[in-house]
Amino acid sequence: MADTTLMDKLVSLCKRRGFVFQSSEVYGGLGSVWDYGPLGVELKKNVKDRWWRAMVHERDDIEGLDAAILMHPKVWEASGHVAGFSDPLVDCKTCKARFRADKIQDAQCPQKPSKKPGEHTTCELTEPRMFNLMFKTFMGPVEEQAAVIYLRPETAQGIYVNYQNVLNSSRQKVPFGIAQIGKAFRNEITPGNFIFRTREFEQMEMQFFVKPGTDMEWFERWRAARMEWHHSIGLTKGKLRWHEHGPGELAHYARAAYDIEYQFPFGWNEIEGIHNRGDFDLGRHQEYSGKKLEYFDQAANERYLPFIVETSAGADRVTLTLLVDAYREEQVEGETRVVLGFHPAIAPIKAAVLPLVKKDGMPELADRIYHDMKRAFPTFYDDSGAIGRRYRRMDEAGTPWCCTVDGQTLQDGTVTIRERDTMTQVRVHQDQLVTWIRGRLS
Ligand code: ATP
Repeated sequence: MADTTLMDKLVSLCKRRGFVFQSSEVYGGLGSVWDYGPLGVELKKNVKDRWWRAMVHERDDIEGLDAAILMHPKVWEASGHVAGFSDPLVDCKTCKARFRADKIQDAQCPQKPSKKPGEHTTCELTEPRMFNLMFKTFMGPVEEQAAVIYLRPETAQGIYVNYQNVLNSSRQKVPFGIAQIGKAFRNEITPGNFIFRTREFEQMEMQFFVKPGTDMEWFERWRAARMEWHHSIGLTKGKLRWHEHGPGELAHYARAAYDIEYQFPFGWNEIEGIHNRGDFDLGRHQEYSGKKLEYFDQAANERYLPFIVETSAGADRVTLTLLVDAYREEQVEGETRVVLGFHPAIAPIKAAVLPLVKKDGMPELADRIYHDMKRAFPTFYDDSGAIGRRYRRMDEAGTPWCCTVDGQTLQDGTVTIRERDTMTQVRVHQDQLVTWIRGRLS
């Protein structure tokens, strides 16, 4: 399967089955903004829930936070975003297309897609201009007098400015972390590749505050933990790799940075960054706010500004990664079977209940079983069409198990469970179904 074909097929499956729709589609769509449909919202929620469980619930040293999207404008001066959160923009005067100068090697000339921008005879590229990626808006009723504020381009700053609030209101001591999931907005010059790079997206970020000198040790621990998490949600290990930021790439304040990359159909690309940010962030907020942000270490009787190790992943990007990784086509009895082979913990629907035929009391029994299961986890009921077709529909939605109520169910209470990946079948008593499936969900 050609790689572009795979992305096209995935985009169309996502629309057809209700994973992802283009925003405002009835008006022709809005560039690189996407909406999640019934299956997509469950899938992305499962990603966020797994992250929250691993980062907050299962740990003693991390607290959760939900900071507002709108923040004091000075935050973005202190963070460096007003002055420096820019990408170099290049225009083509001939075809009016725009490119990121630093990504031009990966771009195609719209007039001649086999060439890169600038290589075709008629291309006329401008010099790069810096373009700030932050969305501006106004706070206050009268636009002319109102303060200009920004939609946050990352969730991290909400954590830095709340670090002392969390410290003072919880029982944490350094080393400890703060985790947050929330929307971020970037007016990207060249968004694209479906939900890979969008203008509105969700981040899952954790900032870990450590004593200076212990930062590289924590950085390595977090690197290992984050790669392990991506394995735990079922991503193919061979398609994940590390990319170390070399001296040219490393942000001026960063002491070390690695990206976790995934091998997408459009090449290896970042899905998460792990950064040792030193004391840059707290140092800048201390300077711009005039408030002391030092930590007093009682045991050692010393004061210091903690260093920060950050883990920053995109919920939408991880969702796309799961979709790409799960998609497969197989030939079964002369027909193509499309499967989304999600890890059961990630699958939007965990099980389907299907009466084999619409008679002999099977629909009534299946309906009772369905309502019992639905209380335990997302379950789907389907009684329309041939059983083979119904199995295929569930394969395409990534549902791990189909529970079929058949003639034998009426006699001995057992139900056929058909497994998505192997297509093998086992019989389980209807009273054991919830336990049987629950035991296989983690
Ligand atoms: P890129 O170089 O791909 O633009 P970045 O290095 O600017 O990404 P970070 O600022 O480190 O990204 O953001 C952390 C994470 O947030 C990324 O790994 C990615 O998963 C996600 N992310 C960043 N920008 C976007 C976007 N425009 N759309 C979707 N997810 C994004």
